[in-house]
Amino acid sequence: MKVQDPVCGMQCDDKGAVGKSEYRGRTYYFCARGCKAQFDADPARFAGTKGPGTYLPQGNVGHEAAPKK
Ligand SMILES: [Zn+2]
Repeated sequence: MKVQDPVCGMQCDDKGAVGKSEYRGRTYYFCARGCKAQFDADPARFAGTKGPGTYLPQGNVGHEAAPKK
């Protein structure tokens, strides 16, 4: 199943996801542990209506920069 990392907006496969978190009944998958850590720190920020890709991680948290579209 293709899922989208809500932190960086990357598409990944749920089986290949490094981490996952549940928030308000939904399961979110992450391409990197750094992404999961940021989601867990402030899930509302990423699970809200703004959608993915509106937030760029500060510094390198073990995740390559998301490709620009
Ligand atoms: Zn990510």
